[in-house]
Parts: sequence; C-alpha cells; structure tokens
Amino acid sequence: AEIEKDSDLMHIIHVTAEMAPIAKVGGLGDVVTGLARACLSRAHKVDIMLPFYECIEREQISELELITTYESYYDGNWVPTNAYRGVVSGIPVIFIQPSNYFFKGQYVYGGSYKELEAYLYFSRACLEWMQVTGTQPDIIHIHEWQTGSLPLLYWDMYHYLSLKKPRIVLTIHNMEHYGECRKEELSKCGLDGSIYATLDKAVDDRTIGHNPERLSLLKGGIVYSNVVITVSPTYLKETLCSGWLASALILNRDKYYGVLNGIDTAMWNPATDVFLPSKFNARNTEGKKICKYYVQRGLGLILKGTSASKLINEMENKVPLIVCISRLVAQKGLHLITHAIKQVEERGGQIIVLGKASDGRVQTEFEGLANLHNQGPSIRILLTYSEELSHMLYAAADMVLVPSIYEPCGLAQMIGMRYGAIPIVRKTGGLADTVFDMDDQLHRETANGFVFEGIDEGSLNWALDRAFSFYREKPEEWNTTIQKVMEIDNSWNNTAGKYIDIYNSVRVRC
Ligand code: ADP
Repeated sequence: AEIEKDSDLMHIIHVTAEMAPIAKVGGLGDVVTGLARACLSRAHKVDIMLPFYECIEREQISELELITTYESYYDGNWVPTNAYRGVVSGIPVIFIQPSNYFFKGQYVYGGSYKELEAYLYFSRACLEWMQVTGTQPDIIHIHEWQTGSLPLLYWDMYHYLSLKKPRIVLTIHNMEHYGECRKEELSKCGLDGSIYATLDKAVDDRTIGHNPERLSLLKGGIVYSNVVITVSPTYLKETLCSGWLASALILNRDKYYGVLNGIDTAMWNPATDVFLPSKFNARNTEGKKICKYYVQRGLGLILKGTSASKLINEMENKVPLIVCISRLVAQKGLHLITHAIKQVEERGGQIIVLGKASDGRVQTEFEGLANLHNQGPSIRILLTYSEELSHMLYAAADMVLVPSIYEPCGLAQMIGMRYGAIPIVRKTGGLADTVFDMDDQLHRETANGFVFEGIDEGSLNWALDRAFSFYREKPEEWNTTIQKVMEIDNSWNNTAGKYIDIYNSVRVRC
C-alpha cells in the first residue's frame, strides 16, 4: 500500500545503542530501524546516531564518509572523536567513534570497557556533535538506559549553550535495565552527579533508603524527557503497577504513553525475503511448505531418502514444526522453553530453538540439552545468533513459541505471524495485545493463536495440546488461520502515526 506523506514535516534524530541489522542484539535494534524507516516514508527527515562499534561490518554501510572531527568531554578530558555518515538499509546513520577504547570488541555488548562509561560518553558526544555542527532536530528520540543521561545533559547544559529547539522523547523497551549509576560516575560526563541524587531527579524510591548513592539513568531519563513511551499498552499498565520506577512513572503519568511496536515489513517480508529458498504470501503459501522441508532436510529432521513430495504430502498436518527464537534469558521463560522441548517431542511434533545465552550457566544448560537431543529426529537446539537462520525458521514454522515471563512488546510473535506461523504465547505485555486465543468464542474475529496465563508447565501443556489438536484435526481451518495471521497488519505503517502525533504534541515551532 502507498504510504501517505505527512505535510507537517520534522527532523527526528534517534540516539540508540542498537540498530538492525548492523548492531542488533534484540528487539531494540529492530524497532529503531523500523520506526525510522516508517517516518522517512512519511517524508520526515530522520537520522540515527549509533556508536561506531568495532564489530560493525563496514560492507553493510553504503556511502560511508567522515563528516566531523571534534572533541567530546569525558572524565576530565576532551576525547578526540570522529563522526561518520553512512546509509544502512536505506536509513541515514551518524556513527560516533571515540579515539579511546570504548566500543571495541567482538560484539555490540560485552566488550572489555565499562558499558556505563561508554554510553555516558556517547550520550554527551551526540549532543556535542549537534552543538558543533549546529544541528537542531525537532525531536531527539532516545532509547533505554544507555541514553538516559542525554536529557539531563540537554536541559542542564546544552540547552544553555546553543541547542534550543529539540525536545526529547524517551522510549523504554524494557524496564529491567534501569542504568544503575553512582554519583561520581555520572559526574564523569561533566554534570555534577550529586545534584541528581534526589528522589525528584534520578534516585528511585526503592533504593533511596538503603542506597542513596545509586542513581538510575532511566529514572533521570523519565524525569527529564518531554515524553516517555513504552512499547505496548499492557506493558504500560504493568509498569505502573509494580516494579522498579513504578512510582516515577505514576508521577509522570500524564506524559507516559504505551505505543505498540510494529515490525519492519521491508526487512520481514516472505514474498521477497532473500534468505528464503522459496517465497510465499498470504494468498499462496505453497512456498512455505518448501521452506519447512528445506529446514527439516538441512537440519536432519527427516529421514534420508524421503522425497520432498512424500514429506510434504504425507506429513502435512501430522508433524507440526515449532520454533522458538529468543535471547536465552530468564525473562523469556527458560523453564517453559526447556519444558516445551520435551513436550513437543512427546506429542509427535518437532521443535527448533534458536537462541543465544549471555549467562554461562544458561549456556551450559542448553548445551547439555543440545548434546542430548540434537542427533535425534525431532529436536534441534541452535545456540547461536543468526539473522539468516531466523528468517528461514520463521518461514518454516507451523507455530512460533513465545512463553515469556514478561514481554514489553515482543517481535517474534508478530514476525512469526507475518511468515504464517501461528503463535503460542503467555498472556503478558505486548503478547497480550497482539495474540488472541483461538478458543475464545467471544472474539472470533481477532483470534490468531494460542494463549496461556500461568507460568507453570501445566498451563503451557494445555496450550500445546490445543494447538496440536487444531493443527491435526482441522487442517482446513488451520490453513485459513495461516492466511489470516499473515494478513494482520502489525507494520509500522500502522503505528508510526502514533509516534508522529506524540512528536507533534511536544515539538516547538520557531
Ligand atoms: P527482545 O528485544 O527482548 O530480545 P523481541 O521479541 O522484542 O525480544 O525481539 C527479538 C528479536 O531478536 C527478534 O527479531 C528475533 O527474531 C531476534 N532474535 C532473538 N534471538 C535471536 C537469535 N539467536 N538469532 C537471530 N535472531 C534472534
């Protein structure tokens, strides 16, 4: 569909630690790229400011050029800094490269530098770049704790210098990481950290009693930004009810919004996806069967010598393939993922887990499971990060499993649906806003998956049972449901307008 251009145009600069596909760890990267692309399509001017991580593959950047050489303050020194401009996936990006050791290493996170320090430097370096180049966007859109010091630096420093026009929008993608920071650490970016060590600024009431030294960059961000957004309406309610910073959010309730993320339909499109052996769309899903066969064959999930036609015809609607693509962290419901592995096999299905663990113990546990099962006929546990494989798995899957304990928005269920995989999810956060149970008789129109509520194994079993019976006993209805979920519009075209409205509500016209 043709995207309508807006008439009242703005300049938006995202300041972020992640951007898909060049520096993506989880959903944050997808969201920044997708939202930026949607705003560009509506004719706004959009730039993304990103640390120039050493691990970024330069071949993925086009038109890369050095645009500014300047210095940015950190810990008593002015750090020589280079700003590069380039284009990634059609989106203009400004890369900030300090001359010190920050952002060096093999991965986006987990280098040998202190992340807190590097992001404090980065937040200031972005404002400093705007200052030295005279760039005054309407909106500086910051994300997560990493950029939480930026609004403090903006309102208490750069706004008194020459940056007058920008207003600050903060999106919280996950409340778990609140950017713990000591006063002295905050001072390293040039602010007086002790000024912010109060409840009305950057200290959370949960820590004030026993640890007034501990500031939260995310809280500072909440207090100092013009608008705070989180990534789904249900997660908004959850964050107001309990958890870190709930009281800060309640106090700032009138500038706090829940806007559901979209998916980047340019990047996630089964009709054009370069990673797929066979393309497909909602009206013709034959290619999806080929993708399933291709993945099963590639991973040794079928007996050698079975022909494609035999497999596709005889196994159709008998052996469902379930995929679970996830960072392997507690939030994602690890015990439910391991439980599902066994249950799916017992029920005669197949399951592929694609996940990366950052914690050594989790890694060891899943390695154990991989060693135990990966030679067998129905389970594959792939402990790696692979964008390419993720596309193939979504395309091959009959069902996509997202059993999160909490999930601010969740992209896997939305991407899965776009690729014709029926979601099985726990009812929490954005999962509750996007997946509606097939057996809910009152809401037949929206029904698009299988939903369970408890965090216990029995609740998951119940959802798996229902999904398996549906798949096997009502093949025609199943196929109609595939078509239905593929046609659901979870794109940014649908939701970017809400961001634009919010930007408009705070921008200054001068
Ligand atoms: P989170 O942001 O908490 O990681 P989301 O569901 O919002 O969760 O986004 C996860 C994104 O990361 C999805 O695009 C998913 O496909 C991708 N992803 C997660 N783990 C992997 C992996 N091991 N390999 C490839 N992609 C992955």
